[in-house]
Amino acid sequence: MSKIAEQNNSRTKTLIISDLHLVSGELEKTALFIKFCQNEAKEADQLFILGDLFNSWLGDDLSIANYQNVIEALNSLSQNTNIYVMGGNRDFLLGNKFKKEPGCKILIEPHFIDNNNKRYVLIHGDTLCTDDIDYQKLKKILQHPITKFIFLRLPKKLRLRLSGQLRKKSVEAQKYKSKNIMDVNTDSVDKFMSNHPNTDLIHGHTHRKRVHNNEGYTRYVLGDWYVDRGSAIKLEDGLDFIEIN
Ligand code: MN
Repeated sequence: MSKIAEQNNSRTKTLIISDLHLVSGELEKTALFIKFCQNEAKEADQLFILGDLFNSWLGDDLSIANYQNVIEALNSLSQNTNIYVMGGNRDFLLGNKFKKEPGCKILIEPHFIDNNNKRYVLIHGDTLCTDDIDYQKLKKILQHPITKFIFLRLPKKLRLRLSGQLRKKSVEAQKYKSKNIMDVNTDSVDKFMSNHPNTDLIHGHTHRKRVHNNEGYTRYVLGDWYVDRGSAIKLEDGLDFIEIN
């Protein structure tokens, strides 16, 4: 039986992570994540993963088998801790089978949580990178329900080949993009947050861990994960960044 966490209870311990970009076969980082599931995350009431847990996800039928150890770790963690997973731009194809296997609930962004009389809105973060027009255009096509429907029905080999080609193109494109283009557009963030008064923002995606104090709200950017250290936000009596190693 999983513990029922009261989201409004200030004693609730919440951990938030994102951008692990786990690759099957990259054992060190996977081991670090599994250790995190067995220790820090196990002591929390709820764990939120705000996208890009996996570096690529080509459909449950193809990818679950590649991440069996991660699925098992999530599965046993879900006995103690409520797990909520949001798709990122790499793993937006996480589907029903994944949801059932590790006992995770899939979240659609934006998701709101309350802690210690403070409200937070959780998103992956890529929607706010509006300066990267090519990326936003491509996202519209790739994440369109019709594209997803067709892609998930393609033979496994073809899906692997297509995603490999896309990845190559995106790596190429990033070489020529300035660093600013790949960060959030602050006007877009202000606009988004103006719809959510008295709320702070927590997001990942940009891999630029930082606290931005803006007028009317604070924006917390999650850190990404390396083979030897990870990063999380802990909500308990307040908000803290913690290092995982
Ligand atoms: Mn991302």
